[in-house]
Amino acid sequence: LAPGDRDVDVLVVGGGQAGLAAGFHLRRAGLDPVILDAADRPGGAWPRTWDSLRLFSPAAYSSLPGMRMPPFPGPGFPTAGHVSSYLAAYEQRYDLDVVRPVRVTSVRAEEARPDSRLVVESEAGATWRARGVVSATGTWERPFWPAYSGMAGFRGRHLHAADYRRPEGFEGARVVVVGGGNTAAQLLAEVSTVAHTTWVAPRPPRFMPDDVDGRVLFGVATRRRRALDAGDTGDAGVGGLGDIVMVPPVREARDRGVLDARPMFSHVVPDGVAWRDGSHEPADVILWCTGFRPALAHLAPLHLGRAHGVVPTVPVGPVAGTRAAADPRVHLLGYGDWTGPASATLIGVGRTARDAARDLADLPFM
Ligand code: FAD
Repeated sequence: LAPGDRDVDVLVVGGGQAGLAAGFHLRRAGLDPVILDAADRPGGAWPRTWDSLRLFSPAAYSSLPGMRMPPFPGPGFPTAGHVSSYLAAYEQRYDLDVVRPVRVTSVRAEEARPDSRLVVESEAGATWRARGVVSATGTWERPFWPAYSGMAGFRGRHLHAADYRRPEGFEGARVVVVGGGNTAAQLLAEVSTVAHTTWVAPRPPRFMPDDVDGRVLFGVATRRRRALDAGDTGDAGVGGLGDIVMVPPVREARDRGVLDARPMFSHVVPDGVAWRDGSHEPADVILWCTGFRPALAHLAPLHLGRAHGVVPTVPVGPVAGTRAAADPRVHLLGYGDWTGPASATLIGVGRTARDAARDLADLPFM
């Protein structure tokens, strides 16, 4: 090994909640993982979200394996800051070997043999060699921008939800909020307290009943997981309840009458947005609440898309549980339900992390 290079059992890429849950279960399975995290502080995406973000559920419904999230000391559900502190305490308590800031640029096989080491390269210059890799890089670093004609010529400001922090600075501005999900509803609710807002969504937003919060969604997700475990692959998820959770600021925005969405505009014009029927809305800011995509570029050299016959097909190629179907040395955690039911939630990722750790520990060359 060159100086600065290290040989490890399992390398976990990403040190947010999914990476930490992986670290916990890999240890339990008798392995000695190293976690590389691009961020300069603990907490994954949570320290980077907007200041007012809160969980959809109480702390008791938001714990990682082994250590309960402490109750939130204030009113309401835990803030993003509370989650960040919990994740920092979690990695300390289990003395997880998290190295930061280290951004992984590529994962490739050292040789063509299926039991060869995986070589993990980083922007930090150091290289790791591992028998297995867990990718847990989340979605926050890949905000999704849809393409609308005229976007480049807009004289105002394009802002993605990933870069929005707080309403200060938007006083009196004309803000077009784009998107039909929880992020759009929450940011609209907040910005509309100081700005003139217009909400546009690709289809009419579907609001959940006022009394549905993360506890109800957790119950639905649990029933869905049990059904899946029992072999029922029917698709009845939480979607039937609606998309938007009526958290207190969103209810309050509804009461102020600002929660009405217009259909999606057809194009962007230099001073705003316009519809095919000729109508037009001037704007200083277009706030794109249009979601995120999995951050998977580092896995490209493995060509995981080449395995056939395994469902579902996802951006990185087919997966079987958390395992890349094309390469049993590679597991994926978090990202979305395609890595397991609720894998992209605090409470759900533990179960999928346990499965991934068991699978990796069972590899004959581990
Ligand atoms: P992240 O938290 O994004 O962590 C990934 C880590 O990997 C980051 O530290 C990043 O810097 C690092 N990384 C990325 N690329 C690389 C690389 N190439 N090399 C090394 N490191 C890398 N879930 C709930 O359970 N309850 C909720 O109420 C809830 N609310 C949410 C609200 C919003 C607005 C969003 C977007 C999500 C919410 N979620 C919620 C879902 C989920 O819990 C979060 O998205 C969570 O941050 C996902 O954790 P993660 O570990 O998969 O990814």
